[in-house]
Amino acid sequence: MTVDRNSIAVPKIVSLQTFPVRIPFADGGPGTGGTPSRWHMLDIVLIRLEDEAGNVGWGDAFAYFCLEAVKAAVDHMIAPFVTMASIDDIPAWNFDVQRKLHLFGRYGITLFALSGVDIALWDLKAKRHGLPLWRLLGAEAPTSHHAYASLVRYGEKDLVTRQCERAIGLGYRHIKLHEIAPDVITRAREAIGPGIPLMVDANCAWSVEETLALRDTFRSCDLLWVEEPVFPPDDYQAMAEIEAAGVRVGTGENACTAFDFNRIISNVTYPQPSMTKVGGVSEFLKVLAACKGAGKIPMPHTPYFGPGYFATLAMLPLMPKETLVEFLFVEPAAWLAATPEPIEGFITASNNSGIGFEANLDIIECYAVWT
Ligand SMILES: [Mg+2]
Repeated sequence: MTVDRNSIAVPKIVSLQTFPVRIPFADGGPGTGGTPSRWHMLDIVLIRLEDEAGNVGWGDAFAYFCLEAVKAAVDHMIAPFVTMASIDDIPAWNFDVQRKLHLFGRYGITLFALSGVDIALWDLKAKRHGLPLWRLLGAEAPTSHHAYASLVRYGEKDLVTRQCERAIGLGYRHIKLHEIAPDVITRAREAIGPGIPLMVDANCAWSVEETLALRDTFRSCDLLWVEEPVFPPDDYQAMAEIEAAGVRVGTGENACTAFDFNRIISNVTYPQPSMTKVGGVSEFLKVLAACKGAGKIPMPHTPYFGPGYFATLAMLPLMPKETLVEFLFVEPAAWLAATPEPIEGFITASNNSGIGFEANLDIIECYAVWT
């Protein structure tokens, strides 16, 4: 009889729990823009794994405006592949689950759910080894990176001016807008002056023609990149056309799996994997490797504050020093854990074991959503 030593050495996972939470936030604006309705809540599906040795891992599945559906996907589609399993080769597990669930779509809620569980598995594995995740993955030391203030869409010149000035006052030296009106974008550049890298995220608002018609604004505002300019977000040929016209494009937050990213990386200057959407740490690592092979600088999407944010920070030592960290410029009513915030515009990964997410159970209970 053949004995699989790994299955003996790696403790079984004995529980998977989901904790849907909804945390209000303030952003100083009307809360309207590219979202289905007024955006003023951070919807998060937390995932807690525990193995038979008592180790605990936390993950976070993207769930803005789809919290109940994502929780159901984790509980009913992913959990059966986790409970009572011994999982050590997480990328292989992840790929196997993708194969088994492919008929439900390789984009959106299925992959959000898989991402959250994958993050929890990596957190659990690193904790089992007593190491920060970046150390488990071979990095020598945490690295410090520039963070940028990711402003929500205000749609109004004076509001944008005020928020840009506030961000500069807090020490940020990089700012991203979610504005689509040229006069508002121009006003932001005037407010921050030259020398501060500025980005614009359109959230797929334009066509190729509309994007190219704005080239003069992009040039005069000296934009580092234009993010998700066109709909649909997976029109990668459109991204290539915009790049060919001299506009640097960032995209990828709505792409799932490294396979999908292979089409992005060749077409845009800045690939933007999202930890809680792309397929978790396993797929994120593959995207990083592909970016490195293509000489591209990843600019991860991270406008969320759960374990997915922590896991992204844990990847920083594996990324180029030019990688910028997105920090959503809002004020949540509570933090799910002691959360690293940018200090004078810089941010560093945690030295704690795993992804560094030490859950505040009182806050989780306080902001729980009963589905
Ligand atoms: Mg974006």
